[in-house]
Amino acid sequence: MDSIGSLGLQQGEGAPSCPQEGLPCPSNSSEMVQECLQQFKVTGAQLRQIQTSLLGSMEQALRGQVGPAPAVRMLPTYVGSTPHGTEKGDFVVLELGATGASLRVLWVTLTGIEGHKVEPRSQEFVIPQEVMLGPGQQLFDFAARCLSEFLDVLPVDNQGLQLGFSFSFPCHQTGLDKSTLISWTKGFKCSDVEGQDVVQLLRDAIQRQGAYSIDVVAVVNDTVGTMMGCEPGVGPCEVGLVVDTGTNACYMEEARHVAVLDEDRGRVCISIEWGSFSDEGALGPVQTIFDHTLDHESLNPGAQRFEKMIGGLYLGELVRLVLVHLAQRGVLFGGHTSPVLRSQGSILLEHVAEMEDPSAGAARVHAVLQDLGLNPKASDAEWVQCVCMAVCMRAAQLCAAALAAVLSRLQYSREQQALQIAVATGGRVFERHPRFLSVLRETVMLLAPNCDVSFIPSVDGGGRGVAMVTAVAARLAAHRRLLEETLAPFRLTREQLAEVQAQMREAMAKGLQGEASSLRMLPTYVRATPDGSERGDFLALDLGGTNFRVLLVRVTTGGVQISSQIYSIPECVAQGSGQQGILLNWTKGFNASDCEGQDVVCLLREAIRRRQAVELNVVAIVNDTVGTMMSCGYEDPHCEVGLIVGTGTNVCYMEELRNVASVDGDSGQMCINTEWGAFGDDGSLSMLSTRFDASVDQASINPGKQRFEKMISGMYLGEIVRHILLHLTSLGVLFRGQQTQRLQTRDIFKTKFLSEIESDSLALRQVRAILEDLGLPLTSDDALMVLEVCQAVSQRAAQLCGAGVAAVVEKIRENRGLEELTISVGVDGTLYKLHPHFSSLVAATVRELAPRCVVTFLQSEDGSGKGAALVTAVACRLAQRTRI
Ligand code: ADP
Repeated sequence: MDSIGSLGLQQGEGAPSCPQEGLPCPSNSSEMVQECLQQFKVTGAQLRQIQTSLLGSMEQALRGQVGPAPAVRMLPTYVGSTPHGTEKGDFVVLELGATGASLRVLWVTLTGIEGHKVEPRSQEFVIPQEVMLGPGQQLFDFAARCLSEFLDVLPVDNQGLQLGFSFSFPCHQTGLDKSTLISWTKGFKCSDVEGQDVVQLLRDAIQRQGAYSIDVVAVVNDTVGTMMGCEPGVGPCEVGLVVDTGTNACYMEEARHVAVLDEDRGRVCISIEWGSFSDEGALGPVQTIFDHTLDHESLNPGAQRFEKMIGGLYLGELVRLVLVHLAQRGVLFGGHTSPVLRSQGSILLEHVAEMEDPSAGAARVHAVLQDLGLNPKASDAEWVQCVCMAVCMRAAQLCAAALAAVLSRLQYSREQQALQIAVATGGRVFERHPRFLSVLRETVMLLAPNCDVSFIPSVDGGGRGVAMVTAVAARLAAHRRLLEETLAPFRLTREQLAEVQAQMREAMAKGLQGEASSLRMLPTYVRATPDGSERGDFLALDLGGTNFRVLLVRVTTGGVQISSQIYSIPECVAQGSGQQGILLNWTKGFNASDCEGQDVVCLLREAIRRRQAVELNVVAIVNDTVGTMMSCGYEDPHCEVGLIVGTGTNVCYMEELRNVASVDGDSGQMCINTEWGAFGDDGSLSMLSTRFDASVDQASINPGKQRFEKMISGMYLGEIVRHILLHLTSLGVLFRGQQTQRLQTRDIFKTKFLSEIESDSLALRQVRAILEDLGLPLTSDDALMVLEVCQAVSQRAAQLCGAGVAAVVEKIRENRGLEELTISVGVDGTLYKLHPHFSSLVAATVRELAPRCVVTFLQSEDGSGKGAALVTAVACRLAQRTRI
């Protein structure tokens, strides 16, 4: 037995019964009545098929694989976030299409304080039938007149009123205030509106009317209004479900799943437009002859087939068709109908609600039937009640199947097996038929057993939600302005970068000449890069803080092989030579190939002893920049620049000896260690320095020093981001304005977070996880903003670095008098290597600023050891050549 059978959905055998168990049924019920009611029963399997088919249609539409008349439309609404609860202000809301043949105007005041509500004022206007079916302009003029009439009696001034337009028909939205009607539904059929922007039509009408100056800020449909107006409960409400005249739902989808949007971040509210769901395979088996008749006689035959089984506009009509059918066959009303019963639309949703309500009793049913010009017998009332219940129950069950499809979709897109979600419900069917919600809830529980769904009735029929959308739009626009203002100093123009390049060139020249400059331009005594002819075994010592690494570097025709061993530094040694630090030292004594096979530790001890005793004869003191250049240089003879972007940043390059004032000699070259981290320490970068750079600098151990490095390297980027986040929080733009202790903690925001947050492969959900780990109280917009902050900071870092490299390669090109220079840069450092965009931004900046240099970037492997060995190898090669 199907599990849904317990709800009475299974087609039953044996004694006839009402759709609702326990209800008194006439014992003399004819086969014909049973047959009629039976048609409205839906099995669990049928509901599951509808759920599956609808889910398939939804996913197809999201992927954009649909024909001109798709089963469901999945329309993006340009509502990207659910409310904060802090929205405030006064808003006018105009509702059209939410509640049948009426138009509603509301004045909504949002207080920005949770729990503190100001009741909206509203007025409902009945739309005459001839306006609903007449020319479009007439409808919009009618709306503008209603607006003025409503505002006339309110104490408002005519200044910048902000209006949210709730327009509940299928529309193609291209902006929050741009929406083109696809087709009329729900009994409307005005000419010259389909294919038009309804916001513009409303604006034009308001202007024609001329009484008020009103800004139409946002257009949404009633499902979105319902969702957005929901009082935030345990969590945000991310599904809106409306069953009124028609039916529809919306939910928050990940933007990257929506093919028509050119957006891969954040979420967007999707209006499903499920009223048009039409899969014959799934719906066919549950459609009755009455559904076919109803469709046939409707304003839009063949369209909105699903809606016509659920929407309030049609429930009364279905009941009417069944009653006419039964009367004409002599089963009801003594075989008589009445002119009222025979006329289309005479049974309204209200009638069905009244007759269906078991607590109202037979007398109420009787009264309604008499109003319809009928003369019911006692048993008639009971049967009519059964008919009403059968029609409504089917509607609730079908609606549940559709909602279950949405829940399945959310489970999938959120990658959450057990989903906890709030669904905002709205519309007269919910309000007037209490049983509708209970059947809906029970059926959803069976169809989507892993979802914990709470249903929350909408506030003010969604009007508050429309005001909320309008307010959110206003808030987001204000926050975006503040974010842009904050990040603007980080967005460097081409001119600013060219200026950095020029200043760097000048500082390089001065430094080389021995004049005052923030660039020290230290000669390294490395006179050549590898040319590939180096051969031999070399020993390298890599001296770290706590470890000594000894590397045996074998340079052969087959390439460079390195074997290494790590020794901890004996305390006496560490204390004996405070100078050694992180330098990598090469001594002449270690370069000979005859050390092969000797005891490495022995050599090391001897070296240290010699160093302490007689000041070791140092051939080259190689810093990491030089090591990086040399190690890449062995593979690529064009490699004449070394770049480090790790904890700190620095560059070295091959300069013409004649330009180096502090070293004798006019021919040949020498590698210059620029120590560019200190660039700008003379104040030359002050134009680019932001308040955040100043904060980071002030809090550092060396205020005023290494200004260039502090804008670029791994030790500082996280800190810059943290200071920006603090500022944006103080402006109320981030984290709802709540300052947390965590974010006040220095170095809490690691530079590696920038890499993680900016990684293309990471969903925003993971960005949220990183920030939540930091204990930051995140909203969905916050993650996006933090991402933008990280991007601005790392982009500036990479561009400044690129401007520096451009200065260096241009200098080399000019030194050599070349039209075009082909050169490679060896690079090391975790920030450069692991950040997802840093390296490509550096390269792009260099291309832009040094167009006559063809620059290749090579990432070094084990730059320090291998590079140091090669420094020695090259020194040996040069020495041999001199001897010859
Ligand atoms: P060093 O420059 O000290 O020789 P590294 O090249 O490994 O060492 O750089 C270390 C720096 O790299 C640290 O300051 C750290 O902030 C940064 N870093 C570590 N991991 C990442 C990452 N995944 N993305 C960007 N930067 C990182």
